[in-house]
Amino acid sequence: MNRYLQQLSQSHFSVIIGLFLLLISQSSWAETLSPTPLRLTSDSITKIELQDWVYANQNNDIETLSGLLQQPENTWKKLSTDQPYQIGIKNYWVSFSIFTPKDYLSRIIALDNPLLDSVKIYHLINGELVSTEIMGDTLPFKQRPLQSNIFLYPVNFEPGDTHTFYIKIDNKGSISLPLVLWSSNDLTQLTETKNLFSGMQIGLLLAICLFSLFIALASASYSYSYYCGYVLGLTILTATIHGVSFRYLWPQWPIVQQYIFIIIIPLTLGFSLMFTEKVLQLKYHNLKMLRICRIMAVISFGLTIIMPFMNYSSALYILAFVVLTISTILMAFSLIQAFSGQRNAPLYAIGRMGLMIGCIITGLIYLGLITVDLSPLIPIMIGLTFEVITMAAVLALRYNDERKAKFEFQKQTLEQAQKLRETREEALRNEAENSEKLEQMVQERTLELEITLRELNDVNQKLTEQNTIDSLTGVKNRSAFDRRLIAEGRISRRQQTPMSLLMLDIDKFKNINDQYGHLSGDHTIKTIANTLSEYVKRPTDLVSRFGGEEFAIILPCTDIEGALLVAEQIRQAISELVIVHNEHTIPVTVSIGISETIIDSDEHPMLLLEQADKALYQAKRGGRNKVCYYSLETEQI
Ligand code: GH3
Ligand code: MG
Ligand code: MG
Repeated sequence: MNRYLQQLSQSHFSVIIGLFLLLISQSSWAETLSPTPLRLTSDSITKIELQDWVYANQNNDIETLSGLLQQPENTWKKLSTDQPYQIGIKNYWVSFSIFTPKDYLSRIIALDNPLLDSVKIYHLINGELVSTEIMGDTLPFKQRPLQSNIFLYPVNFEPGDTHTFYIKIDNKGSISLPLVLWSSNDLTQLTETKNLFSGMQIGLLLAICLFSLFIALASASYSYSYYCGYVLGLTILTATIHGVSFRYLWPQWPIVQQYIFIIIIPLTLGFSLMFTEKVLQLKYHNLKMLRICRIMAVISFGLTIIMPFMNYSSALYILAFVVLTISTILMAFSLIQAFSGQRNAPLYAIGRMGLMIGCIITGLIYLGLITVDLSPLIPIMIGLTFEVITMAAVLALRYNDERKAKFEFQKQTLEQAQKLRETREEALRNEAENSEKLEQMVQERTLELEITLRELNDVNQKLTEQNTIDSLTGVKNRSAFDRRLIAEGRISRRQQTPMSLLMLDIDKFKNINDQYGHLSGDHTIKTIANTLSEYVKRPTDLVSRFGGEEFAIILPCTDIEGALLVAEQIRQAISELVIVHNEHTIPVTVSIGISETIIDSDEHPMLLLEQADKALYQAKRGGRNKVCYYSLETEQI
């Protein structure tokens, strides 16, 4: 007898994984025997596997105990060592008896399959029904006689009693009945060990799940989010297999317990696919695989939605098919990627391989093809945990790769930015140099221009000055005289100061020209101009050649007495001149007319000129070599 079979915490999950292996196995029913009761005394071992005393009824349409009791004896058959693996059984009746000849004993009957939908126990003592107990997944957890993950039924035995148990089982999933009679002490020990194992596994998965959740949140990484979803799915699945979820998560909702498998498995599968797509970086390495992966993910998520509305056993068959197909495809993908040299693929493949090996070993144990001193669930659980941890490592590697790539990219960007900055600085430097040069050039040109302008200005000034100079005598010319006359007129008018005007004409000059020649005449004019400049000393005085052999002298701020004095000195000095030209001594005299006034209008200067001219005319008429002045009071000469 395969005693390990009794320890199976058989579950839908195991069935799904091993189903394809199991489908080929035929359930064989053992020989018919008349039911023999188990003889229980205080010397019996404290843990008795009831397998050898359990009989199953062949009729599956009996609803009530009375109906069952009417069945002939040959409808009862002992369970064989190979238990039937069936999915979806209704009205499955099993029975066993326990006889205590002499002791008072207290024991617990354990049915270690936490996933049975409904378990109805009819308890008869010496043929009398003493209690009926209903347990199972379809009922709230609180209804169990002992609050445990598995189904427990306590019994007190008295001397001479025969206890017969009829158990009616309804289940949409697999039927497996590991029935054990425990002393409460041993059961507690076993329960503790089992709880430790399942607690450790759930704790580990939960820790990985939380860890990846935090990383997903902190780094906004899709792969970690999918991985988190995947591990969370596995955690719930594991907790359910161990009967923990029903007890702690949804004790009031047996309906959740009914559907959790067929919902959580495709959901987990979907996350596993999305996660695979990310870690194998199919987007960059293989678009065909990416498409297949996504289609499979869509199918998985689709199944999550449709499954609850399907016939339960069909749903389990479909799930088994989908899980195996997708697992095989993913395994193939990871191997192909690994052989084509993708970095993360080998580790991923190793993880998958671990899970697969676990599944296969579990399946083989179920089939009885290998016998190991292990619960069949352990290999698959180890495989699963190994896979989850390996995937965490794959993720970490990938994350590190990404980080490195990002860092490298940042470094390159930084270098480029640095280069760009240097180029720009260089350009700026060049520009600055150029503009400095340009500025220098402009300054040089400006300086040159300024110098040229200044020179031009000087030349202009000289030119203007030359324009005011009489070329023969070197004294001011007529136009300079005209301008100065107006200017001094304005000053006189403003300051109310007298100004005097001297008009001077060389006497009998025609004769000099005629007698000594024009050149001597010119020389005479020059000599007289020099003499005039000598005697007119104030800087504001102006000697000018008025025209021909006539001169005009402006004496600002000079009254008539002063003007007369200057005129007289000039007349006398000229008359005493000894002009020698071409060995000829030329005698010369001048006549001078004076006018003096304080200017009171714009026209007044012209009047002053006329008056001086009149006075000159008078001097000529008066015999020449004379000074005459125009008197303002008398308006006479
Ligand atoms: P008066 O005493 O009346 O002034 O007699 P005048 O001979 O000087 O008569 P008038 O003033 O009419 O003659 C001026 C002459 O002076 C006319 C011209 O031949 C001569 N003359 C005018 N300008 C120049 C000049 O620049 N050079 C020379 N050599 N002779 C000139
Ligand atoms: Mg004249
Ligand atoms: Mg004259």
